[in-house]
Amino acid sequence: MAKGEGRTTGVVLAFMAHPDDAEMLCAGTLIRLADAGWTVHVATATAGDCGSMALAPRRISTIRRAEARKSAALCGATYHCLGEKDGFVFHDKPTMRKAMDLFRKTAPSVVFAHAPSDYMIDHEVASVLARSASFLYPAPNVSAIKRRPGSAVPHLYYCDPIAGIDPSGKPVRPTTVVDISDVIERKATMLACHESQREWLRRHHGMDEYIERMKRHGSARGELIGKPYAEGFVQHRGHAYPGSNLLGTVLGAADV
Ligand SMILES: [Zn+2]
Repeated sequence: MAKGEGRTTGVVLAFMAHPDDAEMLCAGTLIRLADAGWTVHVATATAGDCGSMALAPRRISTIRRAEARKSAALCGATYHCLGEKDGFVFHDKPTMRKAMDLFRKTAPSVVFAHAPSDYMIDHEVASVLARSASFLYPAPNVSAIKRRPGSAVPHLYYCDPIAGIDPSGKPVRPTTVVDISDVIERKATMLACHESQREWLRRHHGMDEYIERMKRHGSARGELIGKPYAEGFVQHRGHAYPGSNLLGTVLGAADV
């Protein structure tokens, strides 16, 4: 943040690996922030080109981008896609450049990223990209894209890993829990926009409970704060990142 600038507030970016990850992991909180007047951005590294047993990559990517846009629009969010390929998300110079430029354009004051340790490497690499870009995007020399006044290292929160466990099967305990009970059906409606994935998950994972699985996890997180449904996050509190409980201030989230 340059001297004399006020810090940008009220802009959240969910930077995820694949279409539907934000809907699974943090859409309830995005809805609540949107309702509080925040500007909401949802970004994915890929367009989900491997998310089909039958359709060619370009066809399923087109479908999934449309699903993601439709879902984002339900909470007034703007959808962005870096155009990387499923299973080939790298923390390399070209991808870092795309991520950095996106951060520069959106100037988020809060970032939601994947858990650093998760079930799939795309998630872990997207998490590193989000961490890297959030730290440096306010630096004037890091991007040719015009720096927005008020750009500053944002509050960074890691979403739950899928199923709430790390790759060794160990449960991850959130530091911050947001009550989403009042918006759980809106979150479910956003997730349901990803129609192609309900079918894909049924065939690949042998289950047909796309929405129910999300609700089950939300219910388990809700138990931590005595509410029907919640979303859990681990706040990044390393050097230079703001460590205050911003979600607590804005949404009454519990520090647990
Ligand atoms: Zn994913």
